[in-house]
Amino acid sequence: MKALTWQGKNHVEISDTFKPKIVNPDDVIIKVTGSTLCGSDLHLYHGAIIEMQQGDILGHEFCGIVDSVGANVKNITPGKRYVASFQIACGNCKMCDQKLSSQCQNTNDSTVQNALFGSRTAGLFGYAHLTGGYAGGQAEYVRVPYGDVNLLELPEDVPDEMGLYLSDVLATAYNAVQDTRVYPKDTVAIWGAGPIGLMTALFALKNQASKVILIDNNWRLDWCKQRLPQIETLDYTALPRGKSVTAELHERVPGGVDVSIECVAGEYAKGWGQYFEMLLGMATDTSEIVNEMITSTRNYGRCGITGAYVGYCNHFNIGSLMERGIRLIGNGQAPVQKYWEELLQMIQKGELDPTIMISHRIKLEDLAKAYRIFSDRKEEDGMMKVFVE
Ligand code: NAD
Ligand code: ZN
Repeated sequence: MKALTWQGKNHVEISDTFKPKIVNPDDVIIKVTGSTLCGSDLHLYHGAIIEMQQGDILGHEFCGIVDSVGANVKNITPGKRYVASFQIACGNCKMCDQKLSSQCQNTNDSTVQNALFGSRTAGLFGYAHLTGGYAGGQAEYVRVPYGDVNLLELPEDVPDEMGLYLSDVLATAYNAVQDTRVYPKDTVAIWGAGPIGLMTALFALKNQASKVILIDNNWRLDWCKQRLPQIETLDYTALPRGKSVTAELHERVPGGVDVSIECVAGEYAKGWGQYFEMLLGMATDTSEIVNEMITSTRNYGRCGITGAYVGYCNHFNIGSLMERGIRLIGNGQAPVQKYWEELLQMIQKGELDPTIMISHRIKLEDLAKAYRIFSDRKEEDGMMKVFVE
């Protein structure tokens, strides 16, 4: 079969590889009919996430038709269409019992992650050996462990391009808003106008935020404003010389915003440490965005981190955080299973249209090129979210 494989830093290609087989009796094999590229894939592409191996198949958002099922699978029917959650949960541990599927303790055996993070998170599809080393869905076929737990059937009235994003981006953005807690009348600042930031803004508005300010440095702000005219935008490259994002936000919302949400990533916020530095616990670069969030938020307000960070980040404004009672919340990898049925209903009722993110529809053969375009973020390419047929 064909699959998108990682070959090294900034190098992915379409390769011929083996079709996956049922390994465990809980497995399901999916013939992929829809997949996409996520901002998280860029961290792998750039080599910012450690523990990648040459030949790894990427892709953690996918949907498709069931090709075959293992002997223990009860609720999944061959020939029917399903979306997979990006994380792999066993459905049977303490974390899964609490609907924290992204923290499942049985699907990731990475000792490196254990050492770096203090404990493990769930296995993820196509996301390095740091999260279990599972083959991803940017491929013709993919093996889904614990199929009964990690697949949701797509009804006939929900086409692939509407259902696919239940896999990750919708649940992630919804979790960012629910976990950081956006209440009616709250003012909300969101860093990053990518697909996650756009949908986080949408869900903040759904929670009746009185003001949503989306912050980025490029054309994507206009893209988001066109689709969500109620939001305000802040292009920090257009600020007067010497004026900070924090100063601008305080001008727009005196006293500071109620809620700040980070939808960017440590990679861009200068927060990635080098592998050995992280293991040694040595100082790495500042996370500018986390500092901007802390200082832009009103006393006793809430800051949520949804963008991906690996390990240590020093020089952050703990003084402001402590004195002003700021709540700094790691939103975690979103527990998809907790939300996806509710989100599917919103789609079916016509309350949520995930296609507002889609800028490109492409074939799997063109995906390696799409990685390059997505990484370059050029205005003339206008790439927001691709749908891979
Ligand atoms: P993306 O790469 O498409 O978008 C990121 C945006 O951040 C870009 O538009 C970029 O211009 C902007 N940006 C860069 N530096 C900035 C700065 N200093 N201030 C403001 N904006 C800045 O990514 P995406 O698909 O929207 O995902 C966003 C983040 O969410 C990624 O880090 C991804 O790994 C993470 N993510 C987390 C989860 C989760 O479960 N927690 C799930 C999916 C994705
Ligand atoms: Zn579990």
